[in-house]
Amino acid sequence: MSQTMRLTALFVSIIASTIWCCATPKELKIQKQSYGTSKDGQAIDLYRLTNSLGMEVCITNYGGTVVSLKVPDRDGKFDDVVLGYDKLEDYENGSSYFGATIGRYANRIAHGKFVLDGKAYQLPKNNGDNTLHGGIEGFNKRIWTAKDMSDGHAQSLQLTFFSKNGEEGFPGNLSVTVTFALSNDRDELRIDYAATTDRDTVVNLTNHSYFNLSGAGNGDILGQQLLLSAKQFTPIDADLIPTGEVRSVKGTDFDFATPTAIGARINNGSEQLKFGRGYDHNFILDREHTGSLALAARVYDPKSGRRLEISTTEPGIQLYSGNFLDGTVRGKAQKAYQYRSAFCLETQHFPDSPNHSSFPGTVLKPGQRFQSTTVYRFSAD
Ligand code: BGC
Repeated sequence: MSQTMRLTALFVSIIASTIWCCATPKELKIQKQSYGTSKDGQAIDLYRLTNSLGMEVCITNYGGTVVSLKVPDRDGKFDDVVLGYDKLEDYENGSSYFGATIGRYANRIAHGKFVLDGKAYQLPKNNGDNTLHGGIEGFNKRIWTAKDMSDGHAQSLQLTFFSKNGEEGFPGNLSVTVTFALSNDRDELRIDYAATTDRDTVVNLTNHSYFNLSGAGNGDILGQQLLLSAKQFTPIDADLIPTGEVRSVKGTDFDFATPTAIGARINNGSEQLKFGRGYDHNFILDREHTGSLALAARVYDPKSGRRLEISTTEPGIQLYSGNFLDGTVRGKAQKAYQYRSAFCLETQHFPDSPNHSSFPGTVLKPGQRFQSTTVYRFSAD
């Protein structure tokens, strides 16, 4: 080959690889920064996921926690719509579960007790006589291992955690993976949960973000309009434990079949609302196919025009109207989080399922893989 031919070939190959590079979607790298050192001396990080529309989600590997989530209002103004703290230490000391990954068993287990394969288990109680959100040191207080799994379509943060046999009283070594993916071209955050075990155990995983579509710390959520795809809910006793009854929402304060302000009936004084101190109830999601991704809830904020749509593969969703917030907790930018200044919509299996054989099962066995997905989609008008 002549020198000229060689040079021409080289030139052509450079041009070709440049074109290929530009045509292939660029890998979207997550930005990582230090989030301080945990009480037990471990380095903790904060991961910043962004998309082409300007949406931003910050997640720390401490507790698998969504620290902030910024989306535009109808005028294109971005605001952080989730409650949280300013620093790691507050997450370590706090007991509100702001934005955290919840496990091994989200929500309550009555008296911290359940029987599995004929054996009785006693968990530590951390909520009166009950166990709430995985116990004293649930997954929200654990340090997760992070990996950037981004591709050309989404920035994806994979968090893994190994929960040892006997941890918080639960049987079985449980390997848990939670992946947060922010779509590059839609304002959509997807959370995929997966878990495997080496012994029969119970599993219920969720994310505990507190939303206020007007912005965290900007007033209450009572005027925000909620639609729930749920014809039934599970009534509770005075300890917020499901009685086992499945009740129709029709004609009750729990009917959100058409968009209704969260505060429209919250102070009606019915027994269920008294027990919950407002809404603190599990709704049974309507769905044609078990385990398929379907719309569970839609919330619209008339003030900002922001809308949140939640789809899930889970059978239930806990609506919690921030009834235990009372202004004593100071969050980001030292804002006091007032009574009912946020709502949680926790996609989940029903509370206390291990003690209710009629509820969808939460037992995970060796060889099986627990899997669930929840998608949070934002828009504004
Ligand atoms: C529960 C509430 C509890 C809150 C803690 C919710 O999931 O249903 O009763 O107070 O978590 O932050």
